[in-house]
Amino acid sequence: MNNFEVVIIGSGPAGLGAAFGLLEKGCSSVLMIEKRSISSGGLRNDCKQNYTYPVGFPELFWTKDEAENELVNVERYLNPRITEKKNLEVYKKRAAVLGVDLLDIRQAHVGTDKAPALINSLMQQLEEGGITVWRDTDALAINYEERLVYLKNGKKVGFKYVIAAPGRAGFNWLQDVMKKNGIGFSDNSVDIGIRVECSSENYPIVKDYYDPKFVFPYKVRSFCTNSGAAHVVKEKYEHYYSVNGHSLSRKNSPNNLVNFAMLKTIELTDPVASGQYFAQVLGQMAMQLAGGQPMMQRVGDFRLGKRSNSKTFNGDLYDFKPTLVTATPGDLALAVPAKILRHIWSSLKMLDTIIPGVLHPSTILYYPEIKTYANRPVFINRFFEVKENMFMVGDGAGTSRGITAAWCSGARAAKKITG
Ligand SMILES: Cc1cc2nc3c(=O)[nH]c(=O)nc-3n(C[C@H](O)[C@H](O)[C@H](O)COP(=O)(O)OP(=O)(O)OC[C@H]3O[C@@H](n4cnc5c(N)ncnc54)[C@H](O)[C@@H]3O)c2cc1C
Repeated sequence: MNNFEVVIIGSGPAGLGAAFGLLEKGCSSVLMIEKRSISSGGLRNDCKQNYTYPVGFPELFWTKDEAENELVNVERYLNPRITEKKNLEVYKKRAAVLGVDLLDIRQAHVGTDKAPALINSLMQQLEEGGITVWRDTDALAINYEERLVYLKNGKKVGFKYVIAAPGRAGFNWLQDVMKKNGIGFSDNSVDIGIRVECSSENYPIVKDYYDPKFVFPYKVRSFCTNSGAAHVVKEKYEHYYSVNGHSLSRKNSPNNLVNFAMLKTIELTDPVASGQYFAQVLGQMAMQLAGGQPMMQRVGDFRLGKRSNSKTFNGDLYDFKPTLVTATPGDLALAVPAKILRHIWSSLKMLDTIIPGVLHPSTILYYPEIKTYANRPVFINRFFEVKENMFMVGDGAGTSRGITAAWCSGARAAKKITG
């Protein structure tokens, strides 16, 4: 059996932040376990890096100073080329009239096609520094009492410290680890929303600001804008598909489309305490109504209160084809809870006032886009320690909501280990 001083589970940005933090302080008895051949997280998908607090940083765990101190280190490793913004004041003023805020964010965009080279170079630096990486290796369980990680291939690994960073898709796995090791957690909030796809001439702000983040009343925000060569994709969760978006770097196969999410944060209170379960029920309902696929509807149909059907997507009335071709034309009003739909639609109307055109009849609304990252363990300190020498970081543990914050979370755990 192998033994390491530190075992990190997951090679997404949270795992990387931890590994580089350890390496920097000369700790190289480190094993990183990754179930895929390459990290599957957001570093690989589009890779927009946000360097402005509080984007990506849950304020419960991060002050502005704490985040900014860590972000300096993230920049050192990721070496971002910050994208320029134009006409920000014009958009900000228009938004302010409606009580909407447009955040001014330092951001870099890599693109899905270029991200693997970045990931490979980071992994190479780690391995050259002496860190052991086991790819295609699935961690099955952590037994804290025995200080062992059990692997799906039947092997086990001993540790002094363990850092679990399994990402959002590792939600159930992490809950299982917490239950089996007697770690308390809460799971009471969730983001539910839709993804909007339109032609770039109907959302021209993207020429001035790659990923504009608007904060609307009713806890609705725009999120994760992609343009240039933008595609809507679906991600498989245990009981449903959630949509998402990404784009290739600007030069590659432009399609003149834009997509972005409009998400509403739902805070659940007693007696409904599980955001994960709520999301699952909504996701399953959408799947029921759309034959096991995400649903899509043209704004023109939505406004008229009628469902979209395959004819709506034939192209004679409307000017572009959906990029997520497997989505089923349908009626969002049947699938999205009324309060969520009302707040998102009101926000979209505000957006259409700030950037006239986005609610063109051809614009497509995809549903569901669900973010269940609030699987918050009870931490015993600010280093994301859940039991002595056991840490949980990244989106799966609710300590981040984006690449850079996930990196910072891992780096913070590493600081406790290296003193
Ligand atoms: C399509 C898509 C696009 C996105 N675009 C952006 C973006 O542009 N900008 C942004 O800031 N954020 C983006 N995000 C969000 C971003 O992915 C996350 O915030 C970030 O990656 C979280 O980092 P993490 O390390 O916590 O988790 P992840 O990046 O998800 O990494 C977790 C890793 O752990 C591995 N793993 C999980 N369970 C196990 C196990 N049991 N054993 C071994 N390995 C395991 C996974 O394979 C994965 O590689 C996007 C997400 C998606 C899905």
